[in-house]
Amino acid sequence: LSQTLRSIAPNRRGVLVAAAAVKLSTSSTLRLSSNLPPLASSLYPPISADGRSLSRSSYSRIEPADLLVFADIIGQNHVITDPFEVLAANTDWPRDCRGQGGHVLRPGCAEEVSAILRHCQKRRIAVVPQGGNTGLAGGGVPVFDELVLSLSRMNRVLESVLHLFSAARSTLAETLSAFEVMDAATMSAVSDNLKLNCPLSGSSEFYALVETASCDASGSNDAGKLDKFLECLVSLNHESAGSIDAVISNDSRQFGAIWALRERAFEALVADCGPAGGYMQFDAAVSDRLDMQRLVLATRAEFGQLDCVIRVAGFGHLGDGNLHLVVTADPAGAAACGLWPRVEAFVYGWLARRRGSISAEHGLGWKRSAYLGHCKSPTAVSVMAGIKRLLDPQGILNPYKVLPPSALSY
Ligand SMILES: Cc1cc2nc3c(=O)[nH]c(=O)nc-3n(C[C@H](O)[C@H](O)[C@H](O)COP(=O)(O)OP(=O)(O)OC[C@H]3O[C@@H](n4cnc5c(N)ncnc54)[C@H](O)[C@@H]3O)c2cc1C
Repeated sequence: LSQTLRSIAPNRRGVLVAAAAVKLSTSSTLRLSSNLPPLASSLYPPISADGRSLSRSSYSRIEPADLLVFADIIGQNHVITDPFEVLAANTDWPRDCRGQGGHVLRPGCAEEVSAILRHCQKRRIAVVPQGGNTGLAGGGVPVFDELVLSLSRMNRVLESVLHLFSAARSTLAETLSAFEVMDAATMSAVSDNLKLNCPLSGSSEFYALVETASCDASGSNDAGKLDKFLECLVSLNHESAGSIDAVISNDSRQFGAIWALRERAFEALVADCGPAGGYMQFDAAVSDRLDMQRLVLATRAEFGQLDCVIRVAGFGHLGDGNLHLVVTADPAGAAACGLWPRVEAFVYGWLARRRGSISAEHGLGWKRSAYLGHCKSPTAVSVMAGIKRLLDPQGILNPYKVLPPSALSY
């Protein structure tokens, strides 16, 4: 998607800014595991919840007669039972959990989706909708053997959105299109684990990626605003005794190289120890943007000295107050000292005290459903459960996700 967006907005410029130099020394090793990820049902409920295990609800199992109905609706080719394709649809993007679904359906239009759901409603078959399967909360993969309804063939919607996006960009005079921040720990993971080079020399405490987009084809409007921004940087640098450094991309290759540092940050951090038990990521939202740094520093102060901990890193979207906090650790050491429940309790407790949100943009899936009470009142949760029951009276739509089972009774 980002490549497509770049090709329709060729006048965009990227600036990487580094601020306040600080030395950082961490070590990491790259270990990739080829093992299958653990079953989502064995990890549910999330580790520091009340410890009650989850059992499969009494949904109907998919019978050969159901497959015939589905084939009639979407064609045999789009009823997927091939084990490799089914495994891919059962496994989430970070490869840290796996569902046990046996079938994937790939409808091609809204009418086919409706016909499939009508049949599932009649037979009480549980369904998980799946788009690109890049979600990070376990929402797009089955917990047990739910039917995966893949919308991957329905990409005409995306084309329409891109046209709309392109039209909006040409009519709106907004030139700032992204302002992303990464801390030094994140940047060091990107260079240690992915061997991507930061174009700025030395080490800095923070890096900001500023992207601008031209409104007119010549790009002159953009260039004028960019010049003003750079003048501000020069005076800020003067005031802060030379602690700010910056680089501007001159061509699409450099632009892509700068963006890769940010876009591959999560992948780089997971590579510290592999997905199985070696990391925990949070998707926090805070109203005071300084809390983005405070939360990283507080988590690092609490856990950074433990032998098993490799890195406590933060990056995110400054404009939205959205922080991706990632802690990586040696899996065996983390298990031995019960690290992950402690990290989770610490971070969610900190956010609750600061009135932050436990999920800014990745959603709750099943991984965060047990913590909904940290940022929503019992009344709000009960209203949400009421709406869910109203729209989905049999509970077949993406069960076990978002709302804790205790909030729903079918
Ligand atoms: C490297 C990386 C970087 C990311 N950066 C960002 C970021 O900058 N900003 C951001 O917002 N997010 C980011 N994300 C997370 C983001 O939430 C997901 O990547 C993306 O939005 C999910 O889209 P998807 O089509 O892959 O959905 P999936 O993973 O397939 O599904 C996600 C959820 O939506 C449901 N769903 C999917 N399609 C439908 C449908 N048609 N109808 C109803 N429900 C549906 C699924 O059941 C599931 O619960 C990032 C993820 C990765 C891996």
